[in-house]
Amino acid sequence: MSDVARLRRGACPSLPRPMRTGDGLLARLQPRAPLTLDQLGGLARLARELGNGILEVTARGKLQLRGLSEASAGPLAEGVGALGIEMPEGFPVEVNALAGRDPAEVFDPRPLAQAIAQAAAGLVPRLAPKVSVVVDGGGTLRLGELKADIGVSAGEAGTRLIALAGRPVGLAAPEQAAAVVVALLERLAARGNAARMPELLAQEGAEALAASLDLAPAGAISRPAPSEPVGLHALKDGTLALGVGLAFGQVAAAALEDFVRAARAAGARRVEPAAGRALLATGLTRAAAERLRAQAGALGFITDPADPRCRVFACAGQPACASARLETHALASTLAPLMRGGELHVSGCVKGCAHPAPAALTIVGLDEGAGLVVEGTPRDVPARIVPVAGLPGAVREFLKKDPI
Ligand code: SF4
Repeated sequence: MSDVARLRRGACPSLPRPMRTGDGLLARLQPRAPLTLDQLGGLARLARELGNGILEVTARGKLQLRGLSEASAGPLAEGVGALGIEMPEGFPVEVNALAGRDPAEVFDPRPLAQAIAQAAAGLVPRLAPKVSVVVDGGGTLRLGELKADIGVSAGEAGTRLIALAGRPVGLAAPEQAAAVVVALLERLAARGNAARMPELLAQEGAEALAASLDLAPAGAISRPAPSEPVGLHALKDGTLALGVGLAFGQVAAAALEDFVRAARAAGARRVEPAAGRALLATGLTRAAAERLRAQAGALGFITDPADPRCRVFACAGQPACASARLETHALASTLAPLMRGGELHVSGCVKGCAHPAPAALTIVGLDEGAGLVVEGTPRDVPARIVPVAGLPGAVREFLKKDPI
């Protein structure tokens, strides 16, 4: 594949098609099944040997390896295969990391996700690479906050609520939900392989779309509070899952290997990525989970949902990325405690790899210094540009006048 094709806006950096970024090629994995401890430890080794030694878990719970080269991308795919990690077949449908094991979930989303994946498999070449479908069964780790072209969640009286581009449009009977989603994907595919749901919604209208799919009116919907992966979560089998967060969504391979060893010693069955830039160790007793939580904290993982790093986004930055004009991680660690609850995004350049959405405060590396953007993205016009030297002091002064 050519570089131009890799850089095509919207292209997804899957394992066989890594994407070029400022710090080399990036490969994203969405394994079909929860990872075993050996598999996650093996991925950490591959990141160390073939990439820049950093693994990431994204806001959507996908694993990423960075800093790959043309020469190492092939061996990575072989190494992942040798670990027995299987990728999903058909159209990729997202479900939460504890799907089917969470006693609080309203319905097990996996059979519906599987039905959609199979039925929509033939549409994949005709759909935009980033078209996404999320099936959220409710419970502890909901996916409702994730942006999705099509979302399915629990509706009233056992129905399924269909949301398009985040907007609830109607209710379907559970047995009709897969057909409704596939029909919507077919409409997107008919518009060409760049079509996304916001455009379809704008052109056809939510009411007309809902009526054409025989959806019942959705009524008033109250948004549930955001779910929090960090902490202890009860599982149906009576064991616990321990969620730990990755500061800035990243972990060094050595720290991850140490965590896998500690999880094995604690008796964990698996450690798996979860939405919200987290890892979940499952199959633990309470005593083992508490022990593992303390060890994870010592390794630099986030173990308290109140940790300010939960609301901070930072890309690879200097020295990992050639495009970076800031040491993003050092800055983000220094600045995180200054925030009053709003999100902070530290971006090495205007590309904004770590967080494409607006944040309360964004600090972006520019040719002329560091830009401070309020309620925007790295591509927005900064409220101020300050010299990179002395940046923490300048941000402190800025936040004194305008706490965020
Ligand atoms: S946003 Fe960060 S990681 Fe992405 S290209 Fe710019 S400096 Fe590199």
